[in-house]
Amino acid sequence: MLALTLVFTLALTPGCSPVPLARYEFQRVQMGVQSRVTVYSKSEQIARDAAAAAFDRIAQLEDHFSDYRPRSELSKLSDRAGGAQKAMPVEVSPELFDILRTSLTISRASGFAFDVAIGRSVRLWRDSRKSAVLPSQAQIEAAKATGGEGAIELVAATRSVRLPKAGTRIDLGGIAKGYAAQAGVERLRELGHPICLVSLAGDIAAGEAPPGARGWTILADSEQNGGTPRRLTISNAAASTSGDTFQFVEIAGVRYSHIIDPRTGLGMTTHRSVTTVALEGAIADGVATAMTVFGRDAAADLCARFHVAAIISEPGGNAETIDPFGLLAPLPE
Ligand code: AMP
Ligand code: MG
Repeated sequence: MLALTLVFTLALTPGCSPVPLARYEFQRVQMGVQSRVTVYSKSEQIARDAAAAAFDRIAQLEDHFSDYRPRSELSKLSDRAGGAQKAMPVEVSPELFDILRTSLTISRASGFAFDVAIGRSVRLWRDSRKSAVLPSQAQIEAAKATGGEGAIELVAATRSVRLPKAGTRIDLGGIAKGYAAQAGVERLRELGHPICLVSLAGDIAAGEAPPGARGWTILADSEQNGGTPRRLTISNAAASTSGDTFQFVEIAGVRYSHIIDPRTGLGMTTHRSVTTVALEGAIADGVATAMTVFGRDAAADLCARFHVAAIISEPGGNAETIDPFGLLAPLPE
């Protein structure tokens, strides 16, 4: 999972009168990373209760989406992949169906560069990262055969999922944190706390701007490429960063990412870092991962299709911004 590459500050608009709300921040470890809830509230106790509800919502989603927990809804679904009987459609929770539907849309739009049916390749690659030994070609091919097009079928009418290929394992690591951050924001909104920010490492979802501010300013850190960090100000939007700044392994002199190139079944060897801004967390997260694999050639299409802005940093400090909808433009005062 991506380590934190974003920090928060506030973009203050001078001259605005103060409002009786104070800023409170709470942290936990969830989905294997630091989760953070920032909320503006009238009292610490109210803020603490609201943050607890947001953390609970994220914990619930982790129970559904974890591929580490053998009893999670996702693990049980993957256990039933393949085979005539085992591959019968399985009814799933609304949350799981929802994230799989968004995942498949991004998969199709990215030519399966982003593929949540990539779980077997991810597991194989995790072993290689530990042992620093590449898997055999036979192992790579066997894992690849369980993913890609046709590995996941959704039946909307019965909210069910079919995994026709034997051995398919779903891994939501490239999209779940953004989805969960967004769900945290939705929970806070429901509880009457629209001025909030929820982040899980580099996946951030923002509610309304803080009092007297134009938005929440996040710093997209392009340190790995020697670039200058860039300030982005967002509200009612989400931002995600994907890349291998912190998670990579070197084997026989080659640096590989924790993100898999589905064409090779191995970690990516092109080291780009992508920050996206989108209207919701799952899109920001999934599209950032897709662009890390896909590169800048197809990035404009993905931005147009998913209403996304992207900053793509390539080695050597070159950063390209694609923003067809003006999502990165300064927010009106
Ligand atoms: P992110 O940090 O959001 O870019 O997600 C990285 C995580 O996504 C990895 O740790 C894997 O769990 C998963 N993953 C790796 N490669 C892919 C891929 N090509 N498509 C979708 N998910 C992937
Ligand atoms: Mg992602």
